[in-house]
Amino acid sequence: MNIVVQKFGGTSVRNLECQRQVLQKVLRPYRNGNKVIVVLSAMAGETNRLLNLANEWSDNPDPAEMDSMVSTGEQVSCALFAMLLKQQGIKARSVLGFQAPVETDGSYGRARIVNIDEEKLKAMLQEYDILVVAGFQGCNDGMRITTLGRGGSDTSAVALAAAIQADLCEIYTDVPGVFTTDPNMCTDARKIDRIAYDEMLEMASMGAKVLQIRSVEFAKKYNVTVHVRSTFSEEMGTIVTQEDESMESVLVSGIAYDKDQARITLVHVKDTPGVSAQVFSPLAEQKILVDMIVQNPSKDGLTDITFTIPRANVDQTIEIIGKLKDEIGYEELRSHINVSKVSIIGVGMRNHSGVASKAFQALADENINILMISTSEIKVTCLIDDKYTELVVRTLHKTFDLEEDDPTRHHENSHDI
Ligand code: ADP
Ligand code: ASP
Ligand code: MG
Repeated sequence: MNIVVQKFGGTSVRNLECQRQVLQKVLRPYRNGNKVIVVLSAMAGETNRLLNLANEWSDNPDPAEMDSMVSTGEQVSCALFAMLLKQQGIKARSVLGFQAPVETDGSYGRARIVNIDEEKLKAMLQEYDILVVAGFQGCNDGMRITTLGRGGSDTSAVALAAAIQADLCEIYTDVPGVFTTDPNMCTDARKIDRIAYDEMLEMASMGAKVLQIRSVEFAKKYNVTVHVRSTFSEEMGTIVTQEDESMESVLVSGIAYDKDQARITLVHVKDTPGVSAQVFSPLAEQKILVDMIVQNPSKDGLTDITFTIPRANVDQTIEIIGKLKDEIGYEELRSHINVSKVSIIGVGMRNHSGVASKAFQALADENINILMISTSEIKVTCLIDDKYTELVVRTLHKTFDLEEDDPTRHHENSHDI
């Protein structure tokens, strides 16, 4: 049997009118004789509403109960959509994480999928033509509900497509594909026709929330071609796939930004072996994602360590490092929360020099101070004052000629199965 996986995000399922549009997208592969696995998010705003509710009830919500509660958003949208399908006379049902089952590890709030039962899903597909699977949720080996982190329905979809070896995996969202930068920030952003897994991974991990990072990791690992496209138009979207030569000829593919950053500096730390481990191990134990790290000598056997973390983890980090003040032996801890990260990404950078210096010159021309810099083979990241984020994104977008130049290059509906 041919199996198509289609995932629809929160804005796509936010009300009856939108769900009727989703229905049209789902009916197409169904009418062409495919079995369809539809993966849905919660209705737009619902996950935030539920998270706020928990925080109102408790200063420190129990993680297992939090996941039980926050996963209900997807349960609602799936059951409602299954009703629409059944009304059409289609053999369909909703499937929750524990029913699929989507097995995860035990880490509530950011669980990892460890197994999906292919046989069980295929057996369900013998009985039903369309399965409406709740994204974002799974269950651990204690049969408790877990969630996969914000944006986790993307990962549910790609993991299901990998497990069941789907013939097509489509991620439908509120923009027509992956763009050279966030189209909601920069109106000149251009849709990318094809993007390599590694570039998409960098875009996602550097802040482009159009796909959750782990969904791209799954796609790369299991070689799932993902088509990111709009629920509200017919045009071709972006194919996320293996790198090919044509991709290397493009120097810079996109610009990503992340405003939810903070910078921590430990002033005058002893410059001796083991100090970095003393600082970063306790943060890693608490699953705090440290990204950019700079260490430079200040005076007489002392050094300053500066690093970035998600803004949401600032208080926790100050508490952890504060308790270790004597052990680590630093003089002062400084935190700056008004920073953001802007990254230039492209596999073409591997074979070209000068990208970083061109970016630095462009920012210098705008009189913007760069607070920290980090680079990898296919990425240059600058930390800046967050009030300049939009200006920096637009400036770099222009500097690397990423603007939309020919609006007619958008292809019309040409990808049917
Ligand atoms: P969904 O609810 O469908 O999962 P998300 O809000 O999670 O949708 O992701 C889509 C959003 O990602 C877009 O509305 C857009 O603002 C944002 N985005 C950020 N960077 C990019 C990019 N490079 N290309 C496309 N969208 C991007
Ligand atoms: N509903 C979840 C969220 O808002 C998961 C998702 O939409 O992908 O993060
Ligand atoms: Mg999303």
